[in-house]
Amino acid sequence: MNDKQVRVRIAPSPSGNLHVGTARTALFNYLCAKKNGGKYILRIEDTDLERTEQKYIDNIYDSLKAIGLNWDEGPDVGGPYAPYQQSERFDIYKKYAQKLLDEGYAYECFCTQEELDAEKEQAIKERRAYKYSGKCRHLTPEQKEELRKQGKKPVLRFAVPEGHMKFKDLVKGELEFDLGLVGDFVIMKSNGIPTYNFAVVVDDIEMKMTHIIRGEDHISNTPKQIMIYNALGAEVPQFAHVGMILAPDKSKLSKRHGATAVSDFIAQGYLPEAFVNFIALLGWSPSDGEEIKTLDEIAKDFDLSRLSSSNSIFEYDKLKWMNGHYIRHLPIEDITNRAKAYLTDYDLSKYSEKQLQQIIESTREPISLLSEIKDGVSYFFEDELTIDEDVKNDILKTDLGKEVLEAFLKLCDELKFDDVEEIHHQLEAFRGVFKEKGIKPKQTMWIVRGAITGRTRGADIGVIISVLGKNRVVERVKKAMAI
Ligand code: GLU
Repeated sequence: MNDKQVRVRIAPSPSGNLHVGTARTALFNYLCAKKNGGKYILRIEDTDLERTEQKYIDNIYDSLKAIGLNWDEGPDVGGPYAPYQQSERFDIYKKYAQKLLDEGYAYECFCTQEELDAEKEQAIKERRAYKYSGKCRHLTPEQKEELRKQGKKPVLRFAVPEGHMKFKDLVKGELEFDLGLVGDFVIMKSNGIPTYNFAVVVDDIEMKMTHIIRGEDHISNTPKQIMIYNALGAEVPQFAHVGMILAPDKSKLSKRHGATAVSDFIAQGYLPEAFVNFIALLGWSPSDGEEIKTLDEIAKDFDLSRLSSSNSIFEYDKLKWMNGHYIRHLPIEDITNRAKAYLTDYDLSKYSEKQLQQIIESTREPISLLSEIKDGVSYFFEDELTIDEDVKNDILKTDLGKEVLEAFLKLCDELKFDDVEEIHHQLEAFRGVFKEKGIKPKQTMWIVRGAITGRTRGADIGVIISVLGKNRVVERVKKAMAI
């Protein structure tokens, strides 16, 4: 990279909630800025006024912040090239459009939709790819005047030159396009609103972008954009087009495969750390092969040369696995605090913070989504315990069930409720007694656990007994014996 300060951007269109694909593009731009001591800018591309909604703009802000991709300049924080929202920049586009018009790089086109449709139909009949004929390129001032008098409002089209366009993409390598296949494209609509290809270039010039990192679905736009840079006499930034993110069945990732919006993943209980780690691996690979990395570690290791030009598969299972890893490894104070967001239906004041941490510590092991914690800990909070039907019928109602519970009730008088270690020892001896009678230790414990939690699996039994305390344990055992 040359010594100019790196400036990169994420430029979402707020016509929906922030998509994972856009989040990944944001991440790569963010990482490029961090790695190179540059600036990462958020620009809201809201020229499509009909599809833009404030709730989507808010969702973009919230989602990017949730996964830690805070921007250096943007609509809300300002910056030297404000405004950063395209709908507030219409005057700027007009000025640039006028320049292109004055210098002959663009021209007014008065063709109606019907005329364009007819051109398209003709192309289909002749079995050739359609491109605009360019018939308005050479209209005389008089002809334009006449069309204006008829009430026609022109669009502005870029006059595409002949020849080939070559550019070096940092990910895809040398790319070449035949401009003969590119028709004169619209840069300003008749209502004065710029098209994407034009607005994006004007903004990237004005905001001094050095690198454009984005999905390869934009590659076909790039020659058009480079033509505009050239026409405006501006320096062309470096392009890096990354392969797309596909669904496990290799089709385009869509809602039918699962969540696609960052906010949905977060709401489902994915941890931002896990999510951002996972999406980093969709198109980037760590130099040491070690996949589990924090955002800071990824930023240190990041290099555009390690971005992949091929597509990546969004493996939901892998994301879940990774999320489980983060749930198990984050500090217990931290994960307990985050878990609280999913436990709002419970009266958490029943327990001290220390006890809550014990509860979470002993239940987080098999969980892959933090939202699952709600069900995982339910028996710590329920006044009326929910008991699984098969636990009732196959375990508690049996003669052995009654016998074990009767003995356990007696043990409760001696149990050291405030010492988890000691409880384990006492239970070991308890199991031993039944073992001598030929009852497997596992079976004995199913009965005890079934009575206290209503299930056969769950948290460490010592923690459960200790945290619930004598009164509740005894009460639950008595109720189970009465089933
Ligand atoms: N608004 C465009 C999009 O959301 C930006 C593309 C670009 O980065 O140039 O796809």
